[in-house]
Amino acid sequence: MKWIDFEKPNTVEDAVKLLSDSGGNARAMAGGTDLIVMLRVGHPRVNPDVVVDIKSIPELNELSYDANKGLTVGAAVECYKIYGDDNVNSHFSALNDSATLIGGTQIQGRASFGGNLCNAAPSGDSIPNMIAHRAVATITGPSGTREVPVEDICTGPGQTSIESDELLISINFPSNGAGFGANYIRFIPRNEMDIAVAGVGASVTIEDGKFTSARVSLASVAPTPLLVEEAGEALVGQPVSEGAIQKAADLAKAAAKPISDMRGTADYRKHLCDVLTRRALTTAVERAQGAS
Ligand SMILES: Cc1cc2nc3c(=O)[nH]c(=O)nc-3n(C[C@H](O)[C@H](O)[C@H](O)COP(=O)(O)OP(=O)(O)OC[C@H]3O[C@@H](n4cnc5c(N)ncnc54)[C@H](O)[C@@H]3O)c2cc1C
Repeated sequence: MKWIDFEKPNTVEDAVKLLSDSGGNARAMAGGTDLIVMLRVGHPRVNPDVVVDIKSIPELNELSYDANKGLTVGAAVECYKIYGDDNVNSHFSALNDSATLIGGTQIQGRASFGGNLCNAAPSGDSIPNMIAHRAVATITGPSGTREVPVEDICTGPGQTSIESDELLISINFPSNGAGFGANYIRFIPRNEMDIAVAGVGASVTIEDGKFTSARVSLASVAPTPLLVEEAGEALVGQPVSEGAIQKAADLAKAAAKPISDMRGTADYRKHLCDVLTRRALTTAVERAQGAS
């Protein structure tokens, strides 16, 4: 293993300066549950001269809720803090579907949604859930701060639209009105410490028995997590019914572009998109209706 400098700045400004001064050869580190593994195995995509530990920066540890602004999850907030948070449990409980299944208890003590997003694995278990919740990422670099919908962050396996001198600061979830429900589920052959063969995040808003908004997002069936806009649009205006949900599931299956690998064939993954979309939407509806 080569020599790597380690820096632990206390401000966003200092962290961004370290990233930009390195000329693209620095990596931010939140929990390190992806980064350290990649460094240890000498992953060709991860070969930094400097690791910038971001866990001492206050903005990246923010976990706050405001009825107008929604939920702010700092980029370094660990999964255990998410599922232990009263505001998350009261207003965004479906985020716990992801926070409780990323790794096991030890991993959840370090791993963050921010790291999951920046790692940009097609199988990242928090990403479809964030997309289903219409989350927006706040990113700061030398030229300022910008906001990007989460569905526009991942550009390929391990690649993002976040520049090498930029830092993800937080992920912001808009407040949901009455009648909102969401769910994330994945299929894995064994519990914990495994990579999703397929995963689905879904959200719905229901008023007077009809869908007024809906989103479906898929994991592990394309080079990036996918927002299947047509699946959500097919539900809007429809009365809640198994038929409407099945139509959305058919559209999600059609949108999937999976590969075959040791975890499953492309056909199997397509089939899973149908089954998991149906189940995730059904649970989202039940939650929206206060049934679970
Ligand atoms: C045993 C084990 C089990 C796992 N199980 C799962 C699982 O079930 N589901 C799943 O999705 N993942 C799983 N993972 C992968 C990993 O735990 C998650 O992806 C986790 O969310 C990563 O978060 P982190 O804070 O540790 O990220 P880090 O490892 O710190 O960072 C990940 C990447 O993001 C970059 N980065 C981090 N923060 C920022 C930032 N603020 N701005 C810019 N770039 C940043 C880093 O440079 C790095 O490239 C597992 C890992 C292990 C070791």
